[in-house]
Amino acid sequence: MNSEVHTAADTDLGSVLRSVPDGVLLVGAELDVVWANPAAEQLFGITLAEGIGRSGLEFIHPDDLGLVAASMMSVQSKERGTPIEVRINTSEGWRLVEVVGAPFGDQLLISIRDLTERRRWEIAGDEVARFRSLMQNAASVTMLLNGDGIVQDTSGGVTRLLGWDQEWVEKRSLSELVDEADRTVLEEGLELLRGLGPSGPVTLDLRMRTLAGGTVSFALTFTNMLDDPTVEGIVVTGHDVSDRVVAQEQLEAAHSLLAATLESTFDGILVVDLDGEIRSYNRRFASMWRFSENTLTSMKDSVALARALEQVKDPAGFLAKVEELYARPDAESNDVIELIDGRVFERDSLPQRIGGEVVGRVWSFRDVTEQSRLQRELTHQAFHDPLTGLANTALFRNRVDHAATRIHRTGQRHAVLFIDLDDFKTINDSLGHSAGDDLLKIVSQSLLRSLRSVDTAARLGGDEFAVLIDDVEELDDVLIVAERILAAVREPIHLAQKKMATSVSIGIAIGDGTHDAEALLRNADLAMYAAKSAGKNCVKVFADEMHQAALDSLDLDMRLRGVVERDELVVHYQPIQDMGTGRIVAMEALVRWNHPERGLLGPGSFIEFAEQHGHIDAIGYHVLVTACEQACRWAREVGIDAPAVSVNLSPHQLLDPTFTDRVELLLHRTGLHPAQLILEITEGVLMSDPAAAIVSLERLSGLGVRLAVDDFGTGYSSLAYLQQFPVNILKIDGSFVSGSANSDDWSLARAVVQIAHAIGLVALAEGVETQEQADALSAFGCDLAQGYHLARPAESEAAMELIRSSLGMESHGSRAEAAG
Ligand code: C2E
Ligand code: MG
Ligand code: MG
Repeated sequence: MNSEVHTAADTDLGSVLRSVPDGVLLVGAELDVVWANPAAEQLFGITLAEGIGRSGLEFIHPDDLGLVAASMMSVQSKERGTPIEVRINTSEGWRLVEVVGAPFGDQLLISIRDLTERRRWEIAGDEVARFRSLMQNAASVTMLLNGDGIVQDTSGGVTRLLGWDQEWVEKRSLSELVDEADRTVLEEGLELLRGLGPSGPVTLDLRMRTLAGGTVSFALTFTNMLDDPTVEGIVVTGHDVSDRVVAQEQLEAAHSLLAATLESTFDGILVVDLDGEIRSYNRRFASMWRFSENTLTSMKDSVALARALEQVKDPAGFLAKVEELYARPDAESNDVIELIDGRVFERDSLPQRIGGEVVGRVWSFRDVTEQSRLQRELTHQAFHDPLTGLANTALFRNRVDHAATRIHRTGQRHAVLFIDLDDFKTINDSLGHSAGDDLLKIVSQSLLRSLRSVDTAARLGGDEFAVLIDDVEELDDVLIVAERILAAVREPIHLAQKKMATSVSIGIAIGDGTHDAEALLRNADLAMYAAKSAGKNCVKVFADEMHQAALDSLDLDMRLRGVVERDELVVHYQPIQDMGTGRIVAMEALVRWNHPERGLLGPGSFIEFAEQHGHIDAIGYHVLVTACEQACRWAREVGIDAPAVSVNLSPHQLLDPTFTDRVELLLHRTGLHPAQLILEITEGVLMSDPAAAIVSLERLSGLGVRLAVDDFGTGYSSLAYLQQFPVNILKIDGSFVSGSANSDDWSLARAVVQIAHAIGLVALAEGVETQEQADALSAFGCDLAQGYHLARPAESEAAMELIRSSLGMESHGSRAEAAG
């Protein structure tokens, strides 16, 4: 003890204080220890010498410092302070003491009474039973651990909730009750708790082992009361949180499912809250909109929106929709967005709700580029011709009907052009369907080239096209377009490696609002037929009379059906004379139709129609049979000098693969010598499909039949080609003969005769009408002649007479007369 210190110890009071059982301290204004009595020395476990000068606060439990400070403040004004209970640090650890202070000059005299034992006894009194029963029956587990984590005491919950016997548990480490997997968590938790000291409890989620061998999830709250002298341990309270853990696991599972779904979905998804902050998005969203990380990490919808607006075709519409939806948070929407790069997105927007309240908006985008392309394609297919890409009939009719309804507003008329390829069938039959298809494509291009973009070109099927011209002021405007089409189609083209020319026939009908598409197309079609009849490659405008013509055509078609069976056909014969001897060497069979109402019709009024309407094979074969039979009769009548018979063949007949067989059979059946049959073919059939023609001609020639090229000079036969065909006779068209009459210029006819001779053919002049012509032809060596000057075509009996007289024979009649 330091005797230099002038303290209460020097007084009498000092000796009293030294002997009181309570600890007495004298502290300075700074609470520094000035003096202590032996009881205090004992309590704190240090000598006065060690304690002097140290702050009294050092001994106070940190949690109680506040209480002490408050009491210090008040004690100055009082004679004696209010006793307070605080914990102090002693040699035996924390003890609970009652402290009362009293001012002593400018110092403070503090008396300290140890309450620890008394309080323990108090707690151990009645309280214990009540507390125990509370603890035992609580729905939770309460345990007291010592600093090393050894269970000191436990409540009955440990048995009820976990099955363990309380006594078994006590004196064991808590970690033994915890599932092995969670033991480190427990260790770390306890470590943390010790480090934290007396402040705040620590709660750990741990799986507790049960006696039955399972585990139960517990939330254990650890309160460090090691400093609390009345407890001196760690209080653990725990309750079963299985339900919560399960719920949480379910929540986590749902969350991860949601996240995985969000990532794996094909839709781009963006979630925005009511403040325009991006709450969530998936990678698909970012990639669809080509958003950089920066755009989305900004987490501002406005930034993303700005980037999106740069990419859409209709930014104004896009923005309007967004603004509309942000203005009405509970609205839903679905629309389609087209992007500048050609992609198409379907956009859905739904409000996001929590507990019924709108908290944001979910935008989802689906790339429907492929679907919309398919859809467009299907729509296109439904309304367009697959071969040419032009509109089809359905779309064309629709456009025409539209034009008709517009007339009432604009007063402008419109025109429908019906366009049909000339001789398409020949090309298709001779060059094959793929060449035919190519031709249709070429023609459709020519059509488009001749039209304005507002006009509609359509393929109605086969070789039929149609054009709609809108806003027609004058018929002349339409005629100009039609002429342009004619010219465009006439341009030379390459088809199946051949340079060719083609043409179309066009019919025009003007719509003035009184006709629907159906009627306009029909009228234009009739006009087109008129154009065909007028020689093709031309334009005709519909006139009402055409209806009658159409009806006539229908009538003709009906009547031509079965014309052979009804025996309405008559064959006339026109002689072909040898220019040298004047003898009839052949008779050309020329068909006539004994029409029940119109009388005898020449082939000009029905042959072409029969060719177009599929009647020619029947008619042609009938003529061939009749002519062969007739020739046999001539042979019977006049013997060796009987003329041959010359029969005209339609291209269709020649190209029919069964034709030569039928000719062979016919010759066999009738017994006609093949050399007595001449078959006349036109130049056209030779040129349009030389390969097919040559096959047929060679077979016919092989039968011994002679072949003649009819109307030579009117087509475009190449002489080089002509040489390749096994033909025998060149029939020089009448136009060369009659055309020369006035001009006295025979050079052309002579040249043709020379050509015929040069390639080894017999030259036959057709249409010889005068003696001069006959003389001239004979002068430059034309072999044979045919024409009105020599004889007109005559029915079989008259023809027979002609033969007889040419042979210098008597006619039947005269012979009969003579005989009679
Ligand atoms: P084509 O084969 O050139 O027949 C000659 C045509 O000229 C005949 O007309 C004949 O009457 C006519 N004619 C003969 N001499 C003269 C003359 O001096 N001056 C004039 N101006 N004309 C003359 P038709 O009988 O009217 O026959 C016309 C065409 O019909 C024939 O021309 C032929 O291409 C075709 N034809 C006739 N019968 C048949 C047939 O059975 N089958 C086929 N496929 N076509 C036939
Ligand atoms: Mg002929
Ligand atoms: Mg002829």
